[in-house]
This record gives sequence, C-alpha cells and structure tokens, in this order.
Amino acid sequence: MNPFSAERVGDGRVFYGLCTFWTDDWSVMGSSSGIPVCPKCGSVGFETTLTKWMVGVRQHEMGTTGAVAPSERRDPHPGYVQMIVWGKGRCFPNWEIAQQAYASFLEREKAFA
Ligand SMILES: [Zn+2]
Repeated sequence: MNPFSAERVGDGRVFYGLCTFWTDDWSVMGSSSGIPVCPKCGSVGFETTLTKWMVGVRQHEMGTTGAVAPSERRDPHPGYVQMIVWGKGRCFPNWEIAQQAYASFLEREKAFA
C-alpha cells in the first residue's frame, strides 16, 4: 500500500531519522533509554504526523516548501515523492548515499523493464 494513500493520512505518527530512515510503523522502532531511534543504526530523529510528513514531501517535490501560495512554486524536485516512498524503512549514512542507492535502483528497474 502506498504510505501516502488517503486512508492512512490523518492520525499516524511518523519518525524520521538523521540517517534518512523513516516510518509510520512504530512497531519497528528501536529504543535508547525510551527515546525512539532508527532500528538499524540507532540514530535519533524527529516525530511528526503522517499528514504533516506527506504535505512536506509533496511540497518539496513541487518546490513550494515554505511558499505562501502554490503560485510561488520554485526549485521543484521531480520524483521526490516516489523516492521517499521507496526509502521507507531504509537507513543510509547520509542523503547523498541515499540518492545514489535510489538512482541505482531506478537503473536496475529500467534494465528489467
Ligand atoms: Zn538509521
């Protein structure tokens, strides 16, 4: 199921870590002295709601993050939503490595298309 589908939006908590890990499934989270952490590398992160997370992801793709009005679109990031969907539950040391892994994934998809 698409994690951004309408029926999942509204009440779920989302964890997003400094290592690019994110999830709305808290049953997979690690814990360090009661603080939720990435279950793969143990890095700390942040909590938001699925609604806010989804809005932010879509705004980043459209390039409207922080924009007052949709007409103020700038610096779009085509494919960002799909990359984030792909990256759910994955942990990377940094954003650049996550982007490289996603680019490799897309190349492999093309090879088998
Ligand atoms: Zn991690």
